Amino acid sequence: MARPTDSALASLTAYETLSREELAARIIRRKADLDAVILGHSYQRVEIQEVSDFLGDSLALSQEAADTDAAVIVFCGVHFMAETAKILSPGKMVLMPDLEAGCPMADFATGDRLRKLKAEHPDAAVVTYVNSTAEVKAESDICCTSANAVEVVNSVPAERPIIFVPDRNLADYVTEQTGRTNIIPWDGFCHVHDDMVLEELEAAKAVHPKALVVIHPEARPELLERADVVTSTSGMVKLAEEHDTLIIGTEMGLVDRVQMEYPDKTFIPLSSQAICGNMKKNTLAKLAWSVDHLQYEVTLDEDIRSKAESSLRRMLEVSGGWRRPESDDEASEALAVGASDCGCR
Ligand code: SF4
Repeated sequence: MARPTDSALASLTAYETLSREELAARIIRRKADLDAVILGHSYQRVEIQEVSDFLGDSLALSQEAADTDAAVIVFCGVHFMAETAKILSPGKMVLMPDLEAGCPMADFATGDRLRKLKAEHPDAAVVTYVNSTAEVKAESDICCTSANAVEVVNSVPAERPIIFVPDRNLADYVTEQTGRTNIIPWDGFCHVHDDMVLEELEAAKAVHPKALVVIHPEARPELLERADVVTSTSGMVKLAEEHDTLIIGTEMGLVDRVQMEYPDKTFIPLSSQAICGNMKKNTLAKLAWSVDHLQYEVTLDEDIRSKAESSLRRMLEVSGGWRRPESDDEASEALAVGASDCGCR
């Protein structure tokens, strides 16, 4: 049974006085004591990425967590991601360093509002992007990621309407890719991606005319039309391995990540304003506090958890289950969706 450590400092402020090296050393020691795994989303601060056992998008991270024998999962991301880890690993303690790290896009959809919309469209299937709360997943027929959204939507009989929750840009993208005319989009969006504008893209291209332009599908349609590749964060990581110069249309943390991995290459953010403040709420000091004090634990009502798990499992059945991406998968993913994952998916 995990317990707070005797060497825990009394306050977060006390952790904030420690150096980056002292915090990292403390986290790594404590992680071993706890039998914990630290999952870092690609949009996390570099210093958190450095102490993470796995880096990636939220679903892949949750699956990594479910696959390990670790007793404790520390999720450095936003709240819906820690919930997803708990959905898939109900027997493990799931911690997040800052409970206030939420996702405004996920918060566009609530269980109450979704139940109301379902009542208005009783024949519709509900397809829900994994960037959503456990309660909304529990109200859904099937989940999707941006990488498999087209496949999931195509698995629903053509004549059946689909309520697509909560990202309107991804809904637009899926509509365009599938040619369906019966998708009812939820009016939500990720402000980080939705705020990227054409002028920023044109300015970046003017300076780097030969750069490959890669954009996340949570961006607006007029930007996606001008992308060389529409792809997920994992697709972007793969492209960064293959190309020397990229203009990257997603959150800045991903740009930091690939720059850290390939310091001699040139990665230009489509927008230097694309920063998710919620993702950046997690700090190394908060992470050290979290593992020392076992805070903050994420719990779920079992009825909601099991229904949400069913929606996730249906998605995995449709898309052939999850497995660690390999090179060929990454390439086909990039081609297939012109693909995606929310960096945050
Ligand atoms: S980048 Fe967008 S989708 Fe991801 S956590 Fe932030 S607001 Fe949510």
